[in-house]
Amino acid sequence: MAASQSFEVTVVGGGLGGMTAALALRHRGIRVTVLEQAPELGEVGAGIQTAPNASRILLGLGLRRQLEAIHTEPLDQVRRRWKDGSVIGLTRLGDYCKDTYNAPYWHYHRADLHRVIMDACTDPEGPGPVVRLRTSSKVVELDRRDPLRPAAVTEDGCRYAGDALIGADGIRSRVRDLMGADDTLRFSGEMAFRALVPGDLIAADPATRWLVDRFQSTIWYGPDRHLVHYMIRGGEYLNVVACVPCTDEVAERWVAPSSAGELADAFPGWDDRVPAMLSKAKEDVSCFALYHRRPDPVWMDGTVALLGDACHAMLPYQAQGASQAMEDAAVLAEELGAVTADGIQGALRRYVDRRAKHAGMVQQASLRNKTFYHFPDGPEQRERDAKLRHFDGESDV
Ligand code: FAD
Repeated sequence: MAASQSFEVTVVGGGLGGMTAALALRHRGIRVTVLEQAPELGEVGAGIQTAPNASRILLGLGLRRQLEAIHTEPLDQVRRRWKDGSVIGLTRLGDYCKDTYNAPYWHYHRADLHRVIMDACTDPEGPGPVVRLRTSSKVVELDRRDPLRPAAVTEDGCRYAGDALIGADGIRSRVRDLMGADDTLRFSGEMAFRALVPGDLIAADPATRWLVDRFQSTIWYGPDRHLVHYMIRGGEYLNVVACVPCTDEVAERWVAPSSAGELADAFPGWDDRVPAMLSKAKEDVSCFALYHRRPDPVWMDGTVALLGDACHAMLPYQAQGASQAMEDAAVLAEELGAVTADGIQGALRRYVDRRAKHAGMVQQASLRNKTFYHFPDGPEQRERDAKLRHFDGESDV
């Protein structure tokens, strides 16, 4: 751990990216203020997966005990065909992942993961200075009259100056706009239903009981849509993400309420196990229009830089958006932790150099999966399935 730094950083946005950055900077002895527009810090009621690249970072921040209390570990990732549920690919996770990558593949409820990171930011026993959190603080302007002390100005007129400012304010980043970046958001034409299905309903029905017998991360591939599901909170909920062509209403609203009925109806003709599981969703099903950015956008200007969805919003077709934000956070803290105040711009430049290319590749790979997952039945689908048909271990699927 680095010695206490003499400078301070303002982070705009208290999502998973901003909070991981705050904690990583705290570990380097840097004073951090997080400005969050919402009245309370938190996350949406849905699941999230962290592959070893992100799990390793979270564990490196000293969160092992807390994460072990909230995670669910899938034993494998299974790829199924839409029509009959036949298995077209299987990758072992569980111990295999830990042995091979020296870090686990874990699932969580987003609210649990966010709370663990937030608590670590404010724990008085933690390393370095406690992170200062300001909620109901919507940033509307940047004051950059002193380029070495960028300040965020909130809707209520408060001004927060620091030696660096990090925009971790999500896909519709205000900081990004204020930096003058002209890269526009791209609409994918698709939307994601998000739903939680109570685990006790799943366990009680013989048609869905298989989902609790072995915890897996499952992807169903079908023509122009796919479905992902996995257990969280040790089986309390089945988390469902169902990606389908977007309706005009959702495209316009970005987020719209939906229902278990609409969700199940979005998969006509699919294997019977699909409607059996989807029709049990809790009634707070929502639809999110899926937008992304062009890779290689603007990431920094002087002592202001971006992190997470603010600079590399991607389709969730590799479950890597938050994980890439965590990688950003780790590298940002490494670079800032190695300099004094007069080295901040150089540190931010190195942060961008180390992160932009890789995050851009993950953005592109996520975009390619939009085509790869959604082939209609035919030669391309058969070729894809043949490529995926590798079983790398014995498993009762
Ligand atoms: P956000 O989570 O959007 O946080 C931004 C924060 O900034 C918010 O709290 C917001 O209120 C605040 N804010 C915004 N504007 C202002 C302002 N002007 N002033 C102050 N505060 C502001 N990623 C994974 O790694 N694994 C997964 O399994 C996964 N699954 C996904 C499933 C779906 C269906 C979707 C849509 C995405 C998924 N992702 C996943 C991607 C992941 O959710 C995002 O990439 C990640 O949450 C982005 O984090 P962030 O902190 O950059 O932005």
